Amino acid sequence: MTRRRVFSGIGLLLALHAIALFVSGQSPRLSLVFVLVCAISAAVACYARSTGTSGPVRRKWDFVASALSLWAIGATMFLLRLVLPWLAQFDKLGPEFYFLVYGIPVLLAISTSNEGRDTVLFVLIDSFQAVFAVILVYIELTLSHPLAYSSNIGNPNLSIIYGTGAWLLAGASLLRLFARPHSEEKALYQILFVYLLFFAVLATPLRGSCVFNLLPIGQYRDLLGDLLFLVLTAGCWLVVADPESESAAIEMNSFALVLNNGSPILFTLAVLALGALVARHHFELGISAIALSLLIYCFRAALLQSAYMHAQHALTRSQHALREANSRLKQLSLHDALTGLPNRRQFDQSLELEWKRALRNRRPLSLLIIDVDCFKALNDLYGHPAGDECLSRIASALQSPLRRAGEIAARYGGEEFAAILPDVDLIGAAKVAEAMRSAVLSLQILHEGSTVDRFVTASVGAATMLPTSDTSPENLIAAADEALYRAKRSGRNRVELAELHPAAIQR
Ligand code: GH3
Ligand code: MG
Ligand code: MG
Repeated sequence: MTRRRVFSGIGLLLALHAIALFVSGQSPRLSLVFVLVCAISAAVACYARSTGTSGPVRRKWDFVASALSLWAIGATMFLLRLVLPWLAQFDKLGPEFYFLVYGIPVLLAISTSNEGRDTVLFVLIDSFQAVFAVILVYIELTLSHPLAYSSNIGNPNLSIIYGTGAWLLAGASLLRLFARPHSEEKALYQILFVYLLFFAVLATPLRGSCVFNLLPIGQYRDLLGDLLFLVLTAGCWLVVADPESESAAIEMNSFALVLNNGSPILFTLAVLALGALVARHHFELGISAIALSLLIYCFRAALLQSAYMHAQHALTRSQHALREANSRLKQLSLHDALTGLPNRRQFDQSLELEWKRALRNRRPLSLLIIDVDCFKALNDLYGHPAGDECLSRIASALQSPLRRAGEIAARYGGEEFAAILPDVDLIGAAKVAEAMRSAVLSLQILHEGSTVDRFVTASVGAATMLPTSDTSPENLIAAADEALYRAKRSGRNRVELAELHPAAIQR
């Protein structure tokens, strides 16, 4: 609905009401009809707004709409009493009941928590408390003030309760605004706060009377009653919610959290206050009401606590799963898919680590580079899948000579493998290299395209260094590579050694 339409509608209603007052000689009945129409328009606007939203905030709009409906019912009853006074004998509850009970759904709208955790059970508990509050209001009205009740609207005690309640509701909605709500919920509390503040001002007894206790008085000030409900109507049509933002939901300071989570206590406090009111006249009844409302609150708190624990457990479980997935991912990123051996990245990291350790401990570090002979020919002859199968069998064979902790074999790239041998001198490295060469041969993988043997063979280059601060792992790799080159040149299927002294490298 456009701004212009809403404002012209409001203007038209107010003008008609003023004209009606003027023409009818300030008829209270006619005046009440106008206020009633405005209240109904506000209820309809709230229902309309509720259908446009979803989740907990939709329920809140429904609560506000039902509150206004209750007020409209009260006003209708009041009008009927004015028009047909004999109806009063059938109307056991009376308008005050509706005017007072009106505050209950409003308080529910303000006090129910806005988190998604509001399960059916919480809604049931809140509804039970609401019904309980209605019963207390009824008891307070019928049992405590039998005379005042029958003497119709205008009882000063009731108007004090009414005025105080209205200010408390306005205060509570302001408090919710402090909790930094976002999007539709923020819009709801803004509209509600303006409306409730206006309502509280009108409902405050001034020199013993206030607008709503004396409705209708058939004066031009009744227009304020129209305006009150029209403000709410206009708010529903015109206030636009900010777009939902993920970060707004997450960014919540601890003050806002306390306000949000503490708000359900508002309702319990209201029920407690009602219980105290009843206790003034019916002690046992009032005390029982207080005890019951405390019990309900404890039950609610226990439920909330267990929901919190469930959420905490779910969080811990998903954290655990995340950690596992992470470590699996890390494992995958550091291993070669075909052979299962550590990949080049892991090899580089391990070599760097072992190099530093050897440097610190002044111990030798050996490196082997193993290259499968005539592997291209094998691929060409038997196909790529057979080549893959061969590589994975060789990878397993290369691991068998490694017995000491810290020794690792890795896939260096293509058909080349590498082994890091910490704290192993050249004699030891030569032994391991020879064991690897013979392990590959003893696999007896047929290779009729090889220029070396009937079976698949490998050449190994071995290098040993005593790391110093002037040298680096690259020197060790280069030396092992150079030894491997010599092995290839000298006919393949053999081990060649390179022992390096720092002085030799510097030269
Ligand atoms: P040399 O004896 O001199 O080492 O000869 P070679 O044929 O083994 O060496 P070359 O570098 O010419 O060929 C290596 C071949 O290894 C070429 C490439 O297709 C093959 N290769 C590399 N990675 C893989 C792999 O993952 N699977 C298979 N099936 N073949 C691979
Ligand atoms: Mg190669
Ligand atoms: Mg090769």
